[in-house]
Order: sequence, then structure tokens, then C-alpha cells
Amino acid sequence: MRYVELNDYPSLLIIPVGRKFPEVRSIGHKKQRGLLSRLQHAVDGIIEEGHAIQAFFPDINGRRLPVPIYRKEELYPHLIRPESFLWKKHSDQRGLPIEKDSFYSVEYETLSAQDLEAHVQRVMTDYSFAAILQERKRDEWLESIRSAYSRHPFIELARTKQDVVQAVEILNSSSLLGLLNSPEDVAFWRHRVEIVLRPYRSIPFPWRWDICRHEKELTLKAKEEILSCTCHECNYTIDYYPEEDRVTLPTEVNMEQARKRIATIERQFNAMAEKTTDVVTAIRRLQDLKAALRPLAGMIERARDLEEQLGGRAASHPILSIYQSLKGCKLPDRYVEPDLMSLSLVHIPDISLLKTNLEGEDFQQTLEDHLSYLERKEQEYRPSPDDVMVEVKGYGLTRGMIEDIEGVPGWSDIPVHLLVQILKGEATSKIRRMGLNDTSIFAMLSSWPAKYITQAMIKWKKSGA
Ligand SMILES: [Zn+2]
Repeated sequence: MRYVELNDYPSLLIIPVGRKFPEVRSIGHKKQRGLLSRLQHAVDGIIEEGHAIQAFFPDINGRRLPVPIYRKEELYPHLIRPESFLWKKHSDQRGLPIEKDSFYSVEYETLSAQDLEAHVQRVMTDYSFAAILQERKRDEWLESIRSAYSRHPFIELARTKQDVVQAVEILNSSSLLGLLNSPEDVAFWRHRVEIVLRPYRSIPFPWRWDICRHEKELTLKAKEEILSCTCHECNYTIDYYPEEDRVTLPTEVNMEQARKRIATIERQFNAMAEKTTDVVTAIRRLQDLKAALRPLAGMIERARDLEEQLGGRAASHPILSIYQSLKGCKLPDRYVEPDLMSLSLVHIPDISLLKTNLEGEDFQQTLEDHLSYLERKEQEYRPSPDDVMVEVKGYGLTRGMIEDIEGVPGWSDIPVHLLVQILKGEATSKIRRMGLNDTSIFAMLSSWPAKYITQAMIKWKKSGA
């Protein structure tokens, strides 16, 4: 980083900014010299000693205020923020880039002597704090922040109670909750959940149990000795105190209360579940049913295929739709217990399924019976050449006849009126010329009135059968 020292202003360090920075030898203009004197005076008015500047310019010591200069030896109206130097390397060939974030927003030349002193004091405090941060790499600080965050008592509590918090969230939106006793207790519990989970929900999900993995922005609040860590993606900021190696959250939590509350919410839920044994029994019955149907899955799938093939021409068996609903349910392998953790593993989209009671039923036998019924039906409805596909006034065009027509080469190009003549058996000269009187369909419908043949052909072609 290029800098210039001027003998007349030993407390200042001139920093060229912008792409075309000047070769500074001396500052000639009266106005500019006046400004430099004011700055020099303000720095000298600060009581405490400091060598903060050395952290960024190792060859410079003493108390120094960096002052930006640009264009033709002209002072830049805003002082430089220490963040511009912190953890950064700048080219010797170029001045410090002029970016809004690199400078204070205050235009120092417009300030009164008193305000200028206060501003310079603030800037020098910022440099002192930044100098402490410059002692370690940015990544090292980030690592300290991450570790301090995971040690934060609330984050620690959230992490150890992660499964409970998640179980509460699941059950709070589960339809099972509405079945528990009593409705008053459930309403009270829900109300408590809103209060108890508020601090957990106030933390964005990627920060819930540990710091998120996105890029972070670190900003300085020198006066409070805080290094703020922000994730713009999560829109979340925590404050880190380097001196104490600890973080604070945007909303701090009463820890004793938080510990008690999360335990209470679990206990209250368990009490409701224990009072509602019939729900637990019904879920266990479903667990049994699911286990009993599992080895019969092959038969069930076969029956479902047949039912679909028959398209409503055979009665369905309720066990098939129950099986289908069970497939959409999440049920743990072990029997559920009347408690929060166990019931949070249950997901039943349609709770009317809990009314199912098929105890004592022999599913193997039921399914065998149903399958043979469906197979009989399937035989019955199997396509036969005698199936009437199109009917006109008692005259039936059968599947077999249609197959015969479709067997004639180029049949689909024959116009309907010609087709009707062939089927009727009219050996016109055109038909003879085309050799159509030798096809198997010639005179196939000779017994039909010609106009019915026409109607049947039109109906058939329309139906796409
Ligand atoms: Zn994030």
C-alpha cells in the first residue's frame, strides 16, 4: 500500500485513493493545508497513546491518522474506514479503490472543531480495535466465532434438545394432536408451544443447531468492541466480543426459563398422550396390520392390477384401499408409546384410518378369495371375437368382423361408400378392377340393409374401436 509522510503533519499519513493517484510531494493549496492542520490538531488532541497504525503499515509508528488524497493533490472529503486495510492486501501501483463502504459517510471538512475532534477520536478508536483484529487472519476469527456460537448456552440447549424441539414442531402440526384428551389441554399445550418455541424459531433454520455454512460479512463496532458476523443469505447477525471470546444473539434468552420450558412442554404432551390410550391402541393396531400385510404385498398388487384392468366391472375389496393408505403412513417399526418422541415418528395423512379394525381376519384367505373372484371376472370379460363392438338397429358389428376388415391391406384408405359396397357384396366394375371382390370381407355383411352398414362404419370409425 502506497503512503506518503509529510514533515509538517507528523500525525497524519497520506493515502492516495482512486485509480489515478497523485505523486504527492507537498500540499500546495492554502485550503488543503488548512484542512490538514485541522486534522493534525484533532489527532494531537486525543489523550491516549496508540500505535494502531503499525498493524497495517509496519514501517510506521506513533499515533497516525490515515488521510485520503486524490486527483491533483486534493483531499478526499471522507476519512478511510480501517476495514479498508483489515485482512487486505493492496497494490502499490494503484491507490485505494474508491468504494462507498471503504469510507466514513461524514464529510469531515464541514465539521466544527469540536465535532471534528469527536469524529477523529471515533476513527482512531476504530483503528485501535481493527489493529487487534489484524493480529489474526479473518478465517481464524471466523473459526473463533463459530466455536463461540456453538458454546452459546441457548445454542447448546437447542442442540441437546434438537430432537424434542423437532418432535414438538411435528406434533404441533399433526392431525394426531386433535385426537388427544382433553381438547382444553390440547389448546393450552398449543398456546404454550408458541411461547416456548419462539426463541428457537427466531433463529433461521441453517443457524438452528450450529452456525450456517454461507459466506459471512464481518463488520466492526469498535466502540462496543464487537465484531459483527452477518449472513446475508439467512439475513441473520450475531455479535462477537473478541476480548471475551463469546457471542450474543439478536434476542437473548432467559436460559433458566428456556431450560424449564422445553422440559415442561414435553411432560405436558406425555400427560395428554397417557390420558388417550385408545389412540395409542389404534396406532398399534395399524402397526400390526401393516406388518401382517407386508408379506402379502405381491397378492395385493396383483389384485390391484386386475381391479384396474376390469375398470369397475368387479367389486373392490376394502383391504386394497387400506393397504394403499397404509403405504402413505409413516409408522415406526417398534410399537408406539404414549409419549412425545415416540408419537412424533407417526404420520397418518388420513386419520380415519385409525378406525380400521380387522382383528382376527385371515388376510391370506381373504386375498386368495378376492383374487379368484377377480380372475373369474377377468375370464368373463376377456375379449372375444363375438363381442359386439358397434350396434345398429339390432345388427352387431363384432370384434372378429372388425379384425377381418383391418386385415385387408390398405383398408384405412378405402372410402366409406366403397367399403360399404364391398361388405354388402356389390361386385361393381371398380371393385372387380381393384380385386376387392376376392378379399375375405366381400359380402361379409350381405344380410345387412346397406344404410345400416354405412351407419355402422361411421360409428365404428368415430369410436376408434
Ligand atoms: Zn446463512
